[in-house]
Amino acid sequence: CGIVGYLGNRDVVEVLISGLSRLEYRGYDSAGISVMENGTVSIVKAQGRLRNLEEKLSSGSLKGQMGIGHTRWATHGAPSDENSHPHNSNNNRISVVHNGIIENYMELKDKLVKLGYEFLSDTDTEVIPNLIDFHYNGDLLEAVRETTKELKGSYALGVLSIDEPDRIVATRKDSPLVVGLGEGEYFIASDVPAVLNYTKEFVYLNDGEFAVLTKDDLSFYTNEGEKVERESTEITWSA
Ligand code: GLU
Repeated sequence: CGIVGYLGNRDVVEVLISGLSRLEYRGYDSAGISVMENGTVSIVKAQGRLRNLEEKLSSGSLKGQMGIGHTRWATHGAPSDENSHPHNSNNNRISVVHNGIIENYMELKDKLVKLGYEFLSDTDTEVIPNLIDFHYNGDLLEAVRETTKELKGSYALGVLSIDEPDRIVATRKDSPLVVGLGEGEYFIASDVPAVLNYTKEFVYLNDGEFAVLTKDDLSFYTNEGEKVERESTEITWSA
């Protein structure tokens, strides 16, 4: 339902919670975040209102400067802590937030189970981190690209990997996703208002396009993996 991602020098937990709260108007049944710190990914998620998630975070021990967050509107699998996003690959190397519906997830799940992957949730989404892990061969963008070739349905994705702890890979098909540009910081969001308090510069990701965000670079790629230049747009309205 709602996606927020951040990479920069601010307190990532604060940015993610602020972004998710600005997307609350869309409705949701659960929320969660993944934060990258010192090469490990920590996930905190909770069914129900955003304040349930905030309570779990209230010790303030989760720190970092890069992460992804999600508010879920369940389509496959009941609302629960386990079915909330982000979802990790079995080996916890890949973490994913997803908006949309993967129509062929049963078929992909069967294939992954045969390969030895286990499933911890009832969501359609959980095939995605495991497929990315399966395709990972030293290049996260390529692994996400190979994965999306297998997906049928709609998706906006934010992806982290501990193998490439300096970046967020994002892509979309039939579900909206924008990239926000700041000074030495970048954002992803399913909708502009999520991060409009931090930046007014946005690139609207095209269908089938990929964005790779690092602290000092933002690059876009076509579904063929060719690098493309994208101009940002300045938003003139305020939330
Ligand atoms: N289909 C996914 C799920 O049920 C994502 C739903 C959403 O867009 O929030 O977990």
